[in-house]
Amino acid sequence: MNITDELYQQVILEHNRHPVHFHTLGDATHKAEGFNPLCGDRYWVYVRVDEKDLIDDVSFTGNGCAISKASLSIMTEAILGKSIEYTKDLFGRFHELVQGNSDDADELGELAVFGGVAKYPARVKCAALGWHTLMGALNRSQDSVCTE
Ligand code: ZN
Repeated sequence: MNITDELYQQVILEHNRHPVHFHTLGDATHKAEGFNPLCGDRYWVYVRVDEKDLIDDVSFTGNGCAISKASLSIMTEAILGKSIEYTKDLFGRFHELVQGNSDDADELGELAVFGGVAKYPARVKCAALGWHTLMGALNRSQDSVCTE
């Protein structure tokens, strides 16, 4: 394990221990439930979108492995106050990252810590669960998302 891997691991463990925005959102405009049966990760994502299509507030609840919880925690930080358009674009870039296809990981800030999961296909679902759930909530097409 090199220094970067170790640093990334620390960021994930820290967010798992102390997740941010880890609560329900009573006045959410969008919400969805996500489930990853392979690992048992299950979360709810809550989003409040304002009239300018900005993510005014975002939160999550639920339980799962360290990677899934840290991913949701870092995701909520990355998209708070951002536009839906920006968020969808960021999801695309995150998806490339965890698939091992990203060449701009440095621009992704803390999200870059998930670049390492590309080597472990089962972990990719853990890392991406929160994002798929978020997209399900924003698209309003489904209020339940399953990775299988
Ligand atoms: Zn998991």
